[in-house]
Order: sequence, then structure tokens, then C-alpha cells
Amino acid sequence: MSEARNALTQVKKVVVKVGSALLSDPTQGLDRQKIDAYCAQIVQLMGRHIEVILVSSGAVAAGCHKLGWTRRPAAVHQLQAAAAVGQMGLAQAYESALSEHGHATAMIMLTHDDLADRERYLNARATLCQLLQLNVVPVINENDTVATDEIRFGDNDTLAALVTNLVEADLLVILTDVEGLMDADPRVQATAQRIAESRAQAPGLDALATAGAGVMGRGGMLTKLSAARLAARSGANTVIASGRQADVLMQVLDGADVGTLLTADLTPLTARKRWLAGQLRAKGDLLLDAGAARAVAQDGVSLLAIGVVSVKGSFLRGDMVRMLDANGKVVAQGLTNYSSDEVIRLAGTHSEQFGQRIDYVGEPELVHRDNLVVVEGTSD
Ligand code: GLU
Repeated sequence: MSEARNALTQVKKVVVKVGSALLSDPTQGLDRQKIDAYCAQIVQLMGRHIEVILVSSGAVAAGCHKLGWTRRPAAVHQLQAAAAVGQMGLAQAYESALSEHGHATAMIMLTHDDLADRERYLNARATLCQLLQLNVVPVINENDTVATDEIRFGDNDTLAALVTNLVEADLLVILTDVEGLMDADPRVQATAQRIAESRAQAPGLDALATAGAGVMGRGGMLTKLSAARLAARSGANTVIASGRQADVLMQVLDGADVGTLLTADLTPLTARKRWLAGQLRAKGDLLLDAGAARAVAQDGVSLLAIGVVSVKGSFLRGDMVRMLDANGKVVAQGLTNYSSDEVIRLAGTHSEQFGQRIDYVGEPELVHRDNLVVVEGTSD
């Protein structure tokens, strides 16, 4: 087993993307048996204490069937309508399949814009983390009513990569209807071989994708490769594998030689710290007392309101703020959970008292340690 495959046996959090072609049949609509089989695999992974987030397409396909359309329409509004109709059955199928195993399901509809907006990003992240803690299986699909990116290009490949970044999963598994990336077009060259492993950023992969995987669904191998590169930005590896292979998820997480493994150059932690460190200008400063400054800088703990002495600047939830010690030295920066107006009211208080001071009570931390990076520098 290669070192990178072996590392897959240590994965703690995985995003699994299942494409439309695997879940539906143009004449039969949603294939409940297949959905049940994927859910059974997901439950097995959860039994191994692996957190699983499912990104599932299939709404458009299910909706077309329900509306009696035998062919996928070309008009985007019709596809959106089909998605809205089909989403009902899709959610229902996951609900009933997972409840058979005693698990609750949550349906989350997202758009790319949701994840680009800092505040919504933090909200989506907090919700997903909470659901995972509750042992609920989050099922995510693009909100096709208001966004059409995945309807037109991706079949949720890109969305799944963005979710991987969002929850900092260590692995993205893209299940599709071919066995992986091939080194040549199997329809032309009988000797075409599956590429077992490569760096996600390796040059030349796109050229292979255009040559070798023309038979894929709408997403195509190109969007899968760019999804793998996106996932790699937060340090996640990606496996593109056939969802038709029995127990494919178990096999991937056992490190078996299935599909194409595309490795990230960074670990998730390094990637996250780099991303945070490289964020645009901070919108404000939090002056910390000596204890908080020491705890944040030396132990990398979350910043609590009790340790904040004063606030400078005007910022909103999700903005980047700097954390300064009593000498004005910047000790850390991170994404704030509360706006400057709120922090003014919360400074010096315990989180249990937040409810008496502000309307919104979300996180007990002002800046969670996952969203915080310790830095060197001086205040200007
Ligand atoms: N979000 C869409 C779905 O779930 C994408 C798939 C498609 O366009 O067929 O159906």
C-alpha cells in the first residue's frame, strides 16, 4: 500500500459526493436501493468514528421523472423547477434510509455565494459542525432555485470541494460512473489504464481528462479534477472512484487501490493557517489582557470575551480581526464570531452572560481557535 493510500485509513472527516447518474434512472426515477446501499456504507463509516458529510445530486433527475419528462430539458428554468420537485423525494429517500439505521438526517441547500460570504460561511460551518457532533448525517445539495452553477457545469463537484474546505475534511470522495481518471481514452485505446495516484496539482492531468473520460456525466472529469485542486487548497486529498463498485467507500477508507487518488501538497492544518494568515486586511483590533494574550499566543486557544479589554474599528461577524497584547503587539488574527458593536458589549464578560447583553447568542468564543492564527508583528 502506498504511503498516501495508507494515510486514508487515518481519515477522520470525509465529504462524499454522489452524482446523479448513480442515484437515478431516466425511466424509474430515484433508485431507492442504491440510496439505501450508500447510506449503509455511510453508517458503517460512522461506526468507525469517521464523520461523514454527504453531497448528493439527483434532484433534477428525480424531478424530471416525477413530472413525466422523459428527456432532460435544455431550459434552465425547467431544470430549476425539476430540481425543486425532485428535492422532496431525494430528501425523503435519505431520511428513510438513514432512519432505518437509527440516524437523523439534515438537508442543507447551499450556493457557492453562501460559502464566499464570510458571515454565511461561519454560519454554515457552525451548523455543520453542530450536526456532526449530534451524529446527524448532513445531506447537502446546491440550492438550484437560486443558483444554477451545478445545473450547468458541475453536478455538485465544485460544491462538494467547497464543503470540503468549509468543514476542513481530510478527504473528498467523488463517486461517479467510471473507475477513475484514465491515462487514455478507453474507447479508443484498449490498453488504457486507470491512474491510481497523482498529486492534485500535477500538470497534464486536465489533458488526460479531456482525452480519456468523454463518456462521463455532465460534470465530466475536468470539473472533478478542478474540484480536487479546490479541495487540496485546504489540505484535503480526493479520491475519484466508481460508485458502482461494491463497498467502495469502505475500500477507499481501507486504503485499497480503487479509483484515482489525488493528493494535496499541504496538510489541512498548514493550509488553514496559511489561508487565515493570508486573509485581506483586518477590519478591527481587539486589545487583550495579559492572561488572554498569553493563552492565545502560547497555547493557541480560542479567544473569550472575558479576556478582551477594548475594541477598535468597525467589523461584522466573519470579518478578520487582530488580537493585540497590552503593549500593542499583534499576537494573533482570526475571524470574529461577533460584530464590533457586540464585542463592545461583551468585552470582559463570561459567555454565560452573553444573553443578557446581546440578542444573538451563537458561539461562546469571540474567535474560535480553528479560525485563529498566531502571528508576529507590531500595531501601527
Ligand atoms: N443540484 C442538481 C441536482 O441535485 C445537480 C444535478 C443536475 O443538474 O442534474 O439534481
